[in-house]
Order: sequence, then C-alpha cells, then structure tokens
Amino acid sequence: MTFDVSFGVEPFCTLSPTASGVQQNARLAGLRCICCGAHYPVQDIPAGCPACAAQGTPASVEAVYSALPGTLAQSSSGYTWGEWLPYTHGVSLGEGNTPCLGLPRLAQLLGIRQITAKHEGMNPTGSHKDRMSAQAVTRAMAVDAHKVVLASSGNAAVSAAAYCAAAGLPCEIATYRDMPEPFARALDRLGARRVAFDQGLDRWAHVQRQVLEEGAFALTNFSMPAVGSPAFGVEGYRAVALECVAEGCVPDHVIVPTARGDLLWGVYSALRDLLAAGLIDRMPRLWAVEPFARLSQVLAGAPAQADFSGSTVQFSIAGSTVTLQQQIAVQRSGGGAVVVGDADAARGVAQLGAQGLWVELCAGACVGAAAQLRQLGHIAPKDHVLLLLTAKGDRDA
Ligand SMILES: [Zn+2]
Repeated sequence: MTFDVSFGVEPFCTLSPTASGVQQNARLAGLRCICCGAHYPVQDIPAGCPACAAQGTPASVEAVYSALPGTLAQSSSGYTWGEWLPYTHGVSLGEGNTPCLGLPRLAQLLGIRQITAKHEGMNPTGSHKDRMSAQAVTRAMAVDAHKVVLASSGNAAVSAAAYCAAAGLPCEIATYRDMPEPFARALDRLGARRVAFDQGLDRWAHVQRQVLEEGAFALTNFSMPAVGSPAFGVEGYRAVALECVAEGCVPDHVIVPTARGDLLWGVYSALRDLLAAGLIDRMPRLWAVEPFARLSQVLAGAPAQADFSGSTVQFSIAGSTVTLQQQIAVQRSGGGAVVVGDADAARGVAQLGAQGLWVELCAGACVGAAAQLRQLGHIAPKDHVLLLLTAKGDRDA
C-alpha cells in the first residue's frame, strides 16, 4: 500500500487571525447523531442529538463529509489535514504532526513485536487538547462568538486559554477550587478568567448557564447524562490517526487514556473513514484506559448512565461518567476497556522515562494497559501496539 504524502508544507501560524482567516471545509455536509443516525445541518448543538436527548439518552453528534479525499495527502496551506476536518483554515499555534516514536526496548520488555508512541506532549501547550482547541475555537470565531466557556482544571483549560488568546476571544474556565498551581498560573498568564467550584457538576451547571443565558460558546460538555465535547472540537482529534497512517504506522491496537472519550472517538472515526476509503486494510482495536472501572462496568452490563465515582491521582482521566462515544469506539473496533491503577500508571511513567519520554501520569497508564492486554492474550506477541501519550509530564503534582 502506498500513500501520497507531501512533506515540507508551509507552516500556518496566524497568531491573531481575523474572521476572514476562517474557512469551513467545503466537504462538510452536516452533523449526524452517533447513536440514532439522525442528520442535522451544520450548527452548534453542544448537548448532542436533540432526538436522543428527548428520550433521556443523550448522544454526541459528529461531522458528515460529502466526500473524503481518496488519498492521504497533507494540505499545503491551512490545517494540515483540513480536508478531513470541519475547518481548513483558522486559528493555529502549530499543533499536530507530533512524532511516532518506536520503543524497541519497551516492546522487548513486554514481549510484544513492536510498540510505537505518539507523543502528544509535543503539541504547543503540551497536550493533545490543542487539536480540539484549534478546530473548536475556529468554530467559535466562525459564528462570531463573544466568549468561549468550558469546564476543565487541566490540559483542556490551558489549551483553550492559549487558543482563545491567539484568536482574540475572551475565555472563561470553570475549574475546581483546588486546581493544581501550574495550571492556574498558566491560565493567568494566558489571560483566561477562572471561576472556581467545589463540585464537578457545579462547573457543568456554570457552563450551561453561560451558554443558555449569555450566549457563550461551549468547548466542553455540560449535559447530564454526559456526552462528549462539542463536535467541532472532537473532530480535531481525527488528525492523530491520519498522521500515524500517513507515516505508515498502522497498528493492531491503539491504547488511549480516556475520561469521556473525545480523543478515542476522533481516532476511531478517522480510522473508520480510512478503512472505508481503502487507505488501511483493517481496523485497529481501540482500548480505553481508565483509572477505575467505569466503561469496564458498562461493557460488563452496568447501565451507562450510572455514577461511577472513584478515586485517582490520574488527574486527566478522572471523572465519574461514561459516554456513548467511548462505548461505541471500543465495541465497533473490537477493543475494550482496561483499568490501570495509580501505582501501575506511575510505573509506566518511569518505564517511558527510561526511554527518554517524560509524560503525564495517565499516559504512563498506557504501558500498564499494554502489559495487561498482553498477559490476557488480547495482544499477541506478533502485534504492533500504538500508545497515545496524551501530555507531557511537567504538570503532575
Ligand atoms: Zn440521536
């Protein structure tokens, strides 16, 4: 199989773009519910599919493209993979094109033929969230939003603050009162407004009020039962899979640290589309890594809308909810969920550190998940495993 990939593209670095710097993908044909398949015109429905919500089972919507490129070529201007994303041009800080790094010593240690790490800590603000921020903040610009609002106390907050600053948009972030100091400092430097709460659900209620009463543009979910983040942001994660495949990295398994499954869904939807376009010959199995049993319980029969509270210091993948998008992504790809506790995650961070990679705690959990899946026989010795290392390690407590 050969790919038409052009490298040496011109960087697109408009730090203070005007609305005229925003360009929607001509192939973007609308939105579709990931559950019932209902189609909607291009619009902002952050609470997901209205039809499913009316039945008490909220579900995310995803972008529909009228025709995707038959080859995997990077764009020579605008977003590198703009033809596969909602927007081809918009705010950028140089996100994406993170390295796929072979880890032969770790592979030997775990008894797996090949392990590759996609190091998302190499993004501008140090995490994969920059891919979501680029597309979502561009959408906010496209609809002339006067303010962006989100609930986050970590990587998403810092990323959104940076991209809003680059776009010249006010950014308000509902955080936990005890948000880690490095994140709080970053938000202050980036000019975001912080509003602190004790409870996670109070943060979501604040975002909802801002959206419904003030007309703010939401970057994260505020619905209960939970859905994923708004579609225009989640679509940004598709580039993770496109970059890997363009480099010839088509693994048998992809291991993804997961809270509500935005990254997992983006990777799934791109791989699904690549398979349909004949650009890959099989669907890799996607595995959601979680710090305590949430999705694992749902896959074993628990109701998806239950509260799955638990305790963890894996800050980036904490939370007590399960979304439909994460469930669909692992089920349709033939994967599943893997619980990796904090001690095993820390061991994984040390093992990755021994390879020269300094990553956040939940990224270390990828190693523990690979070891478990190998022991259980889900990963065979001949397999190729891709670890999505979500963020760099400098912000962990
Ligand atoms: Zn629906």
